[in-house]
Amino acid sequence: MAKIRLFIDHPLAGGQPAELNADQAHYLSGVMRLAPGAEIALFNGRDGEWLARITAAGKRGGEVEVLHQTAPQRDPPDLWLIFAPIKKARTDFIVEKAAELGSARILPVQTDFTNAERIRQDRLQAHAVEAAEQCGGTFVPQVEALQPLSRLLSGWDESRRILWADEAAAGPAESLAGLPPGPWAVLIGPEGGFSPAERDRLRALPFVTRISLGPRILRADTAAVAALTLWQAAIGDWK
Ligand code: SAM
Repeated sequence: MAKIRLFIDHPLAGGQPAELNADQAHYLSGVMRLAPGAEIALFNGRDGEWLARITAAGKRGGEVEVLHQTAPQRDPPDLWLIFAPIKKARTDFIVEKAAELGSARILPVQTDFTNAERIRQDRLQAHAVEAAEQCGGTFVPQVEALQPLSRLLSGWDESRRILWADEAAAGPAESLAGLPPGPWAVLIGPEGGFSPAERDRLRALPFVTRISLGPRILRADTAAVAALTLWQAAIGDWK
């Protein structure tokens, strides 16, 4: 089994060549010291994982020969993470863990108490790719642009339920085993929590399920991991 796994946005089929960009070629030849002939694993988020042999790798780019499929495409459950960005490193952590924990889509939102004015969507997407490369996944969640939570809720498709972690519900956490299957989204607030107006709006929405994440107030990054874990263990692909 190849030790190195790379995501490339390129169709993958046996016997076909695939281009490596300069960063990928430099990583393989300059950092990992691999020479032509060495084998790596590739995935593109659609066609599963494939073994490939390096045919050229230099400063300006490289090329591999795609050999055969080593793992089928495995998409995560239809689970999104909606979260309010916090400090940069911790926001990076949330995106990385959401990718590892099997989120299909990641939606950063601005809430009433969110401090972050902007995010680096390209950097966060790169973190999602790295997480997929590291965890053996063949799927990479799309990190969306930052948008107001109010606008996201206004255009919400009500067939997707929202699992809202509300810090004001802190206390005994009920089992999620009884949640209905189907498309879901987990909603995590910022360091400052949800505003009273947001809480009133969310409580009135029929497709929102309000949950506790236990008796202690968790940091937003801890809460994101906890909520995704509970959902995956209860009705996700950990069963
Ligand atoms: N400033 C808030 C306070 O002091 O109550 C805490 C917000 S907490 C740092 C960030 C987010 O994590 C919350 O908005 C919520 O989504 C989630 N969270 C943290 N602890 C939680 C708990 N015990 N139950 C439910 N959600 C929790």
